[in-house]
Amino acid sequence: MSLVLDHPALQELYAVYPRAVVRAQAAAVLDELRGRIAAGRPVPEGEELFEFLPAQVRVRLEQRFRPTLRRVVNATGVIVFTNAGRAPLGAAVAAHVAETAAAYSNLEYDLERGERGKRDQLVESRLRALTGAEAGTVCNNAAAALLLILNTLAVGRKVLVSRGELIEIGGSFRLPAVMEKSGAILREVGTTNKTRLSDYEEALDEETALILKVHPSNYRIVGFTHAPSLEEMVGLARRCGRPLVYDVGSGLLERSDLPALRAEPAVGDVIHAGTDLVCFSGDKLLGGPQAGLVVGRAELVDRLRRNPLMRALRVDKLGYAALERTLALYEQGRQQVELPVWRMLAAPAEELRVRAERLCERVGGGGVQVRVKQSWSLTGGGAAPEERIPSWAVAVRVPEGAERLEVWLRSFRIPILARIEDDEVCLDLRTVFPEQDEVLEEALLCWPREPVQGGGRAPGTAGCG
Ligand SMILES: *Cc1c(COP(=O)(O)O)cnc(C)c1O
Repeated sequence: MSLVLDHPALQELYAVYPRAVVRAQAAAVLDELRGRIAAGRPVPEGEELFEFLPAQVRVRLEQRFRPTLRRVVNATGVIVFTNAGRAPLGAAVAAHVAETAAAYSNLEYDLERGERGKRDQLVESRLRALTGAEAGTVCNNAAAALLLILNTLAVGRKVLVSRGELIEIGGSFRLPAVMEKSGAILREVGTTNKTRLSDYEEALDEETALILKVHPSNYRIVGFTHAPSLEEMVGLARRCGRPLVYDVGSGLLERSDLPALRAEPAVGDVIHAGTDLVCFSGDKLLGGPQAGLVVGRAELVDRLRRNPLMRALRVDKLGYAALERTLALYEQGRQQVELPVWRMLAAPAEELRVRAERLCERVGGGGVQVRVKQSWSLTGGGAAPEERIPSWAVAVRVPEGAERLEVWLRSFRIPILARIEDDEVCLDLRTVFPEQDEVLEEALLCWPREPVQGGGRAPGTAGCG
């Protein structure tokens, strides 16, 4: 043991890690060696062993103290990929977050008046300007926004929802469950495929607090279907004097020309049509941080603000820093240039093909067989589930099989997420930042120098070094 602990190569580690922690890792390395010997497997010897031991200790320490939440390269082609953290922030937005995070800020301090301010006010005027709504507020995420709305406006009373809109979204958002927790009573109307305006009319009674419309984010009901138009719903809400609340999900602020987004409701249009409250996510098509935005009639938004639940659902200063800058980019008309989600959505397929070809040229002839392949990206995040965006990928074939390569890519220095098609690993370049092409190149050139060994390798350690 002391052979390892007094090793000159470990001395610098003691400056960074507690001695006991280094000792524990050294013991683990020795245990592993003994295990190998007992199993009759080869172990390094002599001079080689002398170098092997401290190197292993260092690798283990680095693994143990590495951030558990790390950046990855998303080569899946799913732009708003929930499992990969949804929207990446714009670089200028991220820089502002970092600056604000490490200092004091005017989060709740009115700098002009020198008195207590409200965090809400940091974004409300931007939300008004961008959506045309009278008022707006923000909470933790869209699920929280809906909980707050229902709890404020409908506790103990009925909320009408079409049976075709009782959605479940990945990551355990189930509309009926959220509604139950809010204290509102779900009154389902219509059927799964057909709901008429008269279904809502017939269900309306004294106990009805509001009418809720929900964007069926991640599925489509096709074939023999009907749902009333938004205008009809607004008309009904006006006639019966109940608010119409619309959960639009993905947070498209204004209508987009992009083919994949043609059918997505835009918040501005929905407000313009007369919807009383609209809620949506901050980290889907909006391209900002996790947040739940609510815009609509001032009187209703004020009631939301006064609900004590708001205190529990509020956004922290980092969220506000990111959201305010993201919204400012929209106001400046710079979202297409600055926000990764919009850059990826709009990237011309031809540009992606050129990148795919270049990557193939650079890595061809190594341990992998590569070709340029037509691919289809998805918006993700519950927008346009069926709209495939034409894209280009590098398709990689290895003798060891696509599964092995896919697992290995996930264990790369910067983990790479990819999908498998026809025993090839497909790296869709639409969701890969252009500057990340070199990470793909490095990984493909390096395979299979450090093969995955029986699952023994911790993620994120494979590399060429
Ligand atoms: C994504 C989504 C939600 C949940 O949004 P979060 O911000 O993840 O809480 C709710 N409703 C709809 C329609 C959605 O698409």
